Amino acid sequence: MPKVNKKEAGELLYWAKRTYSAKMVPATSGNISIYNDKEILLSASGICLGDMETKDIAILDGKRNAEGYITGAVLNNVKPSSEKLMHIKIYEKRPDIKAVIHIHCPYVTSFAVCRKEMNEPILPEFIYNFNSIPSAKYALPSSMELADEISKYFEAGNSAVLMENHGLVAGAKTLKETFYILESIQAYAKTYFAAKFLGEIQTLNEEEVLKIKNLKG
Ligand code: 13P
Ligand code: ZN
Repeated sequence: MPKVNKKEAGELLYWAKRTYSAKMVPATSGNISIYNDKEILLSASGICLGDMETKDIAILDGKRNAEGYITGAVLNNVKPSSEKLMHIKIYEKRPDIKAVIHIHCPYVTSFAVCRKEMNEPILPEFIYNFNSIPSAKYALPSSMELADEISKYFEAGNSAVLMENHGLVAGAKTLKETFYILESIQAYAKTYFAAKFLGEIQTLNEEEVLKIKNLKG
């Protein structure tokens, strides 16, 4: 039976704990994975990411078949996250993505519950990095339908997608990069709620938004 690579396990556990400490995955919600082109290392089902240990890492076969689909067979005796299909589909559709984290952060999930995209031009940093975070249609957690819905947005170039009435999933080259995407999105959500409570939200106008986008050159 294959063993988890020590360095990769250490990285996975470190970012799982950071994600839990940042209050993005209450209780046993959420899941985390990395893909090294040979294997997908994915959190076990039903665990708290804050308490995750090496024994809670499922190893999935990361080989692609002739049609380019990732095999995804479980290679050790750990029950993988119920969102295994979603992780696999994202890696299939985006070869540049090597790390995926799915969260249930309450502030972020509130947008998903209201089926509201994160698209108000209120923060230059957010406009520059994301412009907006789209919201994917509701589908049953763990279903192939959910995996298909979500991966469509990644295929279109998004690095993060809200999941209606559920949460959000992000992916990037590394876990560190993925975590920072999540932290920026969480900051947007928190700022939005605090600002709404404090007074009237002032959005940037089109000209200001364009200037921010043009900073990319
Ligand atoms: P797992 O514990 O099976 O990963 O499920 C958590 C979750 O967030 C399902 O959407
Ligand atoms: Zn979930």
